[in-house]
Amino acid sequence: MQSEWLVKLPLLQSVIKKKEVLWCNPLVEPVATGLSKTHLSKDDITDASDRLERFAPYLAKVFPDTDTGIIESPLTPIPMMKRELETTYAVNIPGRLLLKQDNALPISGSIKARGGIYEVLKHAETLAIDSQLLDNAKDYSQFDTPAFRELFAMHKIAVGSTGNLGLSIGIMSAKLGFDVTVHMSADAKQWKKDLLRSKGVHVVEYMDDYSKAVEEGRRQAEADPSCHFVDDENSTDLFMGYAVAGERLASQLKAQNITVDEEHPLFVYLPCGVGGGPGGVAFGLKLAFGDHVHCLFAEPTHSPCMMIGMMTGLHDQVSVASFGLDNKTAADGLAVGTASAFVGKTMEPFLTGCYTVEDQTLFMLLKKLADSEGIWLEPSALAGMIGPVQVTKSKLPLADSKYATHLVWGTGGNMVPEDEMKDYYNHTRK
Ligand SMILES: *Cc1c(COP(=O)(O)O)cnc(C)c1O
Repeated sequence: MQSEWLVKLPLLQSVIKKKEVLWCNPLVEPVATGLSKTHLSKDDITDASDRLERFAPYLAKVFPDTDTGIIESPLTPIPMMKRELETTYAVNIPGRLLLKQDNALPISGSIKARGGIYEVLKHAETLAIDSQLLDNAKDYSQFDTPAFRELFAMHKIAVGSTGNLGLSIGIMSAKLGFDVTVHMSADAKQWKKDLLRSKGVHVVEYMDDYSKAVEEGRRQAEADPSCHFVDDENSTDLFMGYAVAGERLASQLKAQNITVDEEHPLFVYLPCGVGGGPGGVAFGLKLAFGDHVHCLFAEPTHSPCMMIGMMTGLHDQVSVASFGLDNKTAADGLAVGTASAFVGKTMEPFLTGCYTVEDQTLFMLLKKLADSEGIWLEPSALAGMIGPVQVTKSKLPLADSKYATHLVWGTGGNMVPEDEMKDYYNHTRK
């Protein structure tokens, strides 16, 4: 299979050599056309957004660091980092550079606080309605009462995760009172397992990779009708939780007087693992900004599962191993060998492209961002950062626009313990 594809898609020759590459999606189409090819719509996002709004009084009560109970992150200009990128790569990046700081999202400090928490809340709401416990005359802070906790204690939630999704699902489910199990792969960090256990979450460990943990978790959950399995690869609830980011970003840009239109394109760079997080966010952005937003996914050179899946059109029928890649990367949130077919197919008309990043580059950028802006991200979250360099050097339309806004999605970091972060900074931990 390999040699045939290498002839058909010459870029794959660089991919198998683990070079940093940019792939431009030939199937990208106007948003209106793309929308006719999916059953997902703006109404689904509005539904998710309204649900999060209903839960705000509850979240504000049980997680005071959410403030108003709306889980959102800052949008931060990073001009010093822009200069660093320009010097390091000897390019001029026209336009401005912003960082969407999902590293600072409340509750679980990563992009998973969007989709993961949303799915748990939706499940809790459904159970409360089905058991006629929900009092429509009261706000949702009623979820923080013994009656609700007793109901949820009779129900299980399970998820398979490399780490951050497990943190979000585990923390939120345990807070509501669910009996929750996180199935974790061998590459998941010890501190994540410890933290979850300290909150009463069951952690099951596997000596295998992410796919194995998910498969085993799914198998055990399916055998138990009281168990809700959070399916990272196929869940539209997760996807919609992420997609709400689109309208949120639109109001943040507006508040900073930043225009997005025909002459002012928005380029967004999203680190991609299995695809749900970046896919959901990109879908939400496409609905919020139409054809003026250009989304690119970033993956490690050792784990470019979405790039390979979309290039070949084989999606989950191909893995990075099919092309001799080992799926070994320090970007643990992105260590995924097979992408979600649901996300890959949904993104086909919407995604501008994918590019790959070496682990060395992630560590170099981590240090530069900390030194120049005082912002600390985990290695996975830096994958977006060379996007503006890749796009500026490319022949993509509007890539040279001085009116462009380049937005790097900083997907995680705040939960990483300080000593671990110091090791990342000094690149002493692999
Ligand atoms: C999960 C994760 C991603 C990617 O999200 P997927 O849904 O797996 O594609 C990116 N960065 C961080 C820090 C993550 O935890």
